[in-house]
Amino acid sequence: MARARTRENWRRYTPHYRRRDDALHFLGFHTYHQYLASSLWADIRAKVLAERPMCGVCGVKATQVHHHQYDRATLMGNCLTALEPLCRRCHEYGEFNRSGGKTPLEICNHRLRLRRQLLRRRRKKTQIPTSQPCGEVSGSEEGVPR
Ligand SMILES: [Zn+2]
Repeated sequence: MARARTRENWRRYTPHYRRRDDALHFLGFHTYHQYLASSLWADIRAKVLAERPMCGVCGVKATQVHHHQYDRATLMGNCLTALEPLCRRCHEYGEFNRSGGKTPLEICNHRLRLRRQLLRRRRKKTQIPTSQPCGEVSGSEEGVPR
């Protein structure tokens, strides 16, 4: 009961899912689950992962694709810019809160942005400055092997 109430709250909180469901009905799907099981989504997903195989947040191999928005062009696969390849860990971090509940889309996108920034900052901090190997000239093509 409490879970259903929570779900209803975030549905009311964000209009994205209503728009998504409207777009899916236009495309002939009854549910988002049905869409995710379709060959249309399988093709779109495969195309995104082939073009961008690494997680857009942490940089490891991506296995999932996240919708940043659910407009008709994205759902049809005509526009792939709102689709981001993610690893399972990053996707779950964005999609679910600490108690396991689903986060609204804009919160999910925000959480993914924060995680990306945090991981970038951590990477910068842990990078040890490396000196140029002997004989290589920085900033010119002379050091590039042919
Ligand atoms: Zn990741």
